[in-house]
Amino acid sequence: MKAALVHQDLRSRDYRDWREFLRKAEGWSRAEIEAHQLAQLREVLRHAYETTPGYRELWQQAGYDPQASISFETVRQLPFVEKETIRDRLEAFTSFKTRCKYVTTGGSTGIPFGFYRDGTAFARELASKAHQYARVGWKEGDPQLVFRGTVINAQNRIQFYPRFNELRCSSYFLTPEKMERYRVAALTYRPQWLRCYPSSGFLFARFLEESGREFPPLQGILCASENLYDYQRETLRRVFGCRVFSHYGHFELSALAGFCENADTYHVLPQYGYAELLDPQGRPVATPGQMGEIVATSFLMRATPFVRYRTRDYAVFQSHECPRCGRPYDVWERIEGRLQEFVVTSTGRWISMTAINMHDNIFDHLKQFQFVQDQRGVATFNYVPKVSCTPAVVADIHRRLGLKFGDDMQLVMQPVERIEPTKRGKHRFLIQKLPLQGHDN
Ligand SMILES: [Zn+2]
Repeated sequence: MKAALVHQDLRSRDYRDWREFLRKAEGWSRAEIEAHQLAQLREVLRHAYETTPGYRELWQQAGYDPQASISFETVRQLPFVEKETIRDRLEAFTSFKTRCKYVTTGGSTGIPFGFYRDGTAFARELASKAHQYARVGWKEGDPQLVFRGTVINAQNRIQFYPRFNELRCSSYFLTPEKMERYRVAALTYRPQWLRCYPSSGFLFARFLEESGREFPPLQGILCASENLYDYQRETLRRVFGCRVFSHYGHFELSALAGFCENADTYHVLPQYGYAELLDPQGRPVATPGQMGEIVATSFLMRATPFVRYRTRDYAVFQSHECPRCGRPYDVWERIEGRLQEFVVTSTGRWISMTAINMHDNIFDHLKQFQFVQDQRGVATFNYVPKVSCTPAVVADIHRRLGLKFGDDMQLVMQPVERIEPTKRGKHRFLIQKLPLQGHDN
C-alpha cells in the first residue's frame, strides 16, 4: 500500500486557509481572543437575524434590538435554541441551502434532527481538528489505522483509503477473528496513529493484551465521539505505550475542545465558537469542579446557524487558562454524560456513569458489558463472560456496583453471548431507554 502524495484535505483551499489562520492565532492573548470572539459574535448575530425568520422571531420576542451594540452580555441574554426547535422548524432557522449538505445527528440524546452544512464550514471543522491533533505531533498524510463507524463491506472488513493514507477497519466487527486480521494488516501497514472511538480502541487493546500478540509501535491514539473514561485511557496507554489524545466536538460544529501537548483536559478552541458553561439556572459556571451544560454559538455554521445552542452535553469546569501550556482558553476537566450516560434510581437520583469508572480489575473477567435501563430504579447489566468468569466473580461485581449505585437501584445481572454496537458502530456502555429531559429535572 502506497501513501497518497497529497492528503485529500490539503487539496481544499478553505482547509488550508483555516489551518494557517489557526496557526497564526495560536499565540493570541486573552484580549486578542475576546476581541476576535466579539467581532465573530456580531457577525453571526447579524447574519442569523437578517437571514433567518426563526432567529428573528425568537429574539424579537425576547426584546432584542438589532441596532444596539453587541457585548458578551447582550449575547448571554439571548434565548437558547433547542434541538427540538431546529428539528421542528428547520427551514425557519436556515439561512441558505445551495451547495449545502443535509446532515443529521442526535442518536446519543434521543432527539435526532437534521440541518444544513456548507462546504466551508466542514473544511474548517476538519482543519480545526487537525490543528488540535498537531499538538501531539500528527500531520496530514501520516499513516493511520481507523476504527470508526464507516460501514465496510469488504469480506475482511478492512479498506485502504489512499486519499487519507488510512487503513479503515470496521468497528462493527470487533470480534477476536476480525481483530486478528486488523492486527496482521497493521504489521504490514505500520500505522503511526490509531484513530478510534474510545470504546472500540478499548476492545482492541484488550484483545492485544490478552492474546499477547505483537503490534507495531504507535506515536499516539486519537479518540473522539465518546466520553473517554479513565479506565479506557489507562488501558490504551498501557497496551500501546503512547499518548492518548481526546477531544470533544459535535456535528453542529458549535464547540470544539481538545487535549494539549501535556494536559489531558479539554481546551476550548476560541476561534471555533463561543462556548458557555451554564448551571441549571442559566448562570455561568466558573468554580473549579462544578459541572455545567455546554451552550454554544458556532463561528463556522452559516447555512443553519447555531446561536446559544443547548447541546445537552455537560462539562466540568477547571479554569480559564491551562497551567501546563499557558493557553488562555477555558479548560474543562472532563465531559460528563451525554445524556444517555446517566441512570435514574427509584427515588429519582441521577447517577453519572462515571460512577462505575473503577480503577481496578473488576471487569477483567468480562469480554464486554453494557447497562440497559428502561425502568426507573432498575438497570440490567448485560455482560459477555470470559472462561475465567465464575459465579463468585459475578456476585462480586454485583455487590461492588451495588455499593456505587445505592439501595434505590436494583441491578439485574444478565449473561449474554454478544452485545450489538449502535447503528453508527459505537459500543455504548449504557443504553438509556427512559425519556430523560435534562440533568436538572
Ligand atoms: Zn494545556
